[in-house]
Amino acid sequence: MRKPIIAGNWKMNKTAKQAEELINQLKPLVSKSKPEVVICVPYTDLWVAKQAIAGSKIKLGAENVAWADSGAFTGEISAEMLKEIGVEYVIIGHSERRQYFGETDKTVNMRLLQALKNDLKPIVCVGETLEEREKNRTKKVLKKQILEGLNGVTDFTNLVIAYEPVWAIGTGKTATAEDANKTIGYIRSLIRKTFGADVAKALRIQYGGSMKPSNAKELMAMRNIDGGLIGGAALKAEDFASIVNYK
Ligand code: PEP
Repeated sequence: MRKPIIAGNWKMNKTAKQAEELINQLKPLVSKSKPEVVICVPYTDLWVAKQAIAGSKIKLGAENVAWADSGAFTGEISAEMLKEIGVEYVIIGHSERRQYFGETDKTVNMRLLQALKNDLKPIVCVGETLEEREKNRTKKVLKKQILEGLNGVTDFTNLVIAYEPVWAIGTGKTATAEDANKTIGYIRSLIRKTFGADVAKALRIQYGGSMKPSNAKELMAMRNIDGGLIGGAALKAEDFASIVNYK
């Protein structure tokens, strides 16, 4: 059985003070949650978030990680820096990084291998744009993102994939539960063919894209969907908690 994982992606929201307030509101609301609960927060919030989640079930994540150990990489944050704070998860290859900051499948792969080498648990984001979807290129795009992005990975124990159709992120448009389930089923079959049946069976694959309290239950009921990566709705304690407690 794959344990569901609900992760919040705060993006570039919340100052350190606001982060502390949000976590303090969230803690009692998710204290009995069944899924694993993660919050991925801006770098400047990590330290205060680590203190604020103490004694709760909430786990800490960052929104990216550098591919190098250290050195002349202005603006980047290393795995060692994240580990020292107590970060457990890290988002890699979010569509906003791909769209605005030149992230490619190659750099996703470099960051991923670095995260795994340092025992950080990566949440690797994949997904097609609206144009790609309309041109029936979804499978082709996902195949490239997965084969190139996951190239060289040998241990999948700590890896999570987030299928996030780009057209559904922050738009209010959600893939139907059946559609998301089908596409995630395709990703799982690709993983099976490439990395073997045991990896495919155990690998957790989240859905992301305008997941909210009103659609979480339906999405989470799907056979292939093992959790959610939540953007907008992760910024309000009640909404995020209601997704976490979707039953
Ligand atoms: C995301 O940023 O990963 C995301 C899914 O955002 P939203 O939930 O706002 O669509």
